[in-house]
Amino acid sequence: MKPVGAIPKGYDAIDGELAIGGRKASDLVAEAGRTPSFVYSRDLLSGRIAHLRNHIPDRIGINYAIKANPLAEVVEHLEPLVDGFDIASAGELRLTQSLGIDPARVSFAGPGKRDEELEAAIAAGATLNCESEGEANRTLAIGQRLGKTPRMALRVNPDFELKGSGMKMGGGAKPFGIDAEHVPALARQIVEEGAEWRGLHIFTGSQALSEEAIIDAQTNVLKLAAQISDDIGERLTKLNMGGGFGIPYFPGDEPLELKVIGEALAEQVADLPDALKDTELCLELGRYIAGEAGVYLCRVVDRKVSHGVTYLVTDGGLHHQLAASGNFGTVVRRNYPVAIASHFSAEPAEVVNIVGCLCTPLDRLADKAHVPAADVGDLVAVFCAGAYGASASPAAFLGHGPAAEMLV
Ligand SMILES: *Cc1c(COP(=O)(O)O)cnc(C)c1O
Repeated sequence: MKPVGAIPKGYDAIDGELAIGGRKASDLVAEAGRTPSFVYSRDLLSGRIAHLRNHIPDRIGINYAIKANPLAEVVEHLEPLVDGFDIASAGELRLTQSLGIDPARVSFAGPGKRDEELEAAIAAGATLNCESEGEANRTLAIGQRLGKTPRMALRVNPDFELKGSGMKMGGGAKPFGIDAEHVPALARQIVEEGAEWRGLHIFTGSQALSEEAIIDAQTNVLKLAAQISDDIGERLTKLNMGGGFGIPYFPGDEPLELKVIGEALAEQVADLPDALKDTELCLELGRYIAGEAGVYLCRVVDRKVSHGVTYLVTDGGLHHQLAASGNFGTVVRRNYPVAIASHFSAEPAEVVNIVGCLCTPLDRLADKAHVPAADVGDLVAVFCAGAYGASASPAAFLGHGPAAEMLV
């Protein structure tokens, strides 16, 4: 037997079945018209923002990083709840435009922005977080050609990282951001050339579950931002402090205690260095906002025994849930939180392997999981599916097509 991750809070049972947003799993997939289906909960999304507002000082804005879950209904639901949106492609820019989101609330990060993308962002009035000297110079030139003042921030590649994070995005050689020592000269050039100076962006990593590591990184971010601003000799208009707040996926993972992070931030903002006294501050979070608010539902299509091992073969798989299969940035495969949604209240009765329908041994949803008895037709739930699920999995692989997605 291998343990599975803990099921996030906010899910309960109706008539013994898993319920999401007060509705039974079987009703939800009936409404979706098919399995597999991603179901996202409005209540859990709103609750997560409320939790953040409760603990993070008012002085610090909360941005949503759209790449975590770009479903239009999800972004639309978050629109009145968050302060800003972080995007990383022209496609995500178009999404914010189609939803009528004020471009002044949108900042565009990410390496390798093409000229068309820079042009679209400048024309729209979104802020460009430039990732290199070359990109900053292309932005300035395109702004001149369009006769429009670009809003520009610089993404800094800091000399430190977010310790213990699942994906490190700062410290050492990186494709992201501009090495800290080159930032002041470039910032002065941007200001001199008449662009609107929108400050600094420092993102150090993702999926951290240590409050101490996050507080350390935030302390370092504020210190570095103040130092760079002093070097620039300009008041810092804005600082995107990054995020990296993780969620518990695996057995033994503990949720972050936001209160601890919030208290440390409150101390820091009460005593900001001069350079940051009037600076607009924000955090950018994707996974922490959306991850636990989503469930992936798939159906058992076959039940078989091979060499004494029972397999539940589902119509889902890594083409929708690459991370849960263990093939997205993990070294040792561990079980996500999974459950038999059709018998959510039942006691565990057997040890099974739950797999997907793709013809590859990589397609595993749970290994040796102790679950209630399940048969063909029953629904399986994979939790923590609200971020980097549907949009970060190879849906075209093997031609089964994408999963349905719904917000309830
Ligand atoms: C991916 C990314 C995020 C979101 O990260 P999460 O771990 O989902 O919170 C935020 N900012 C930048 C620059 C990113 O690349």
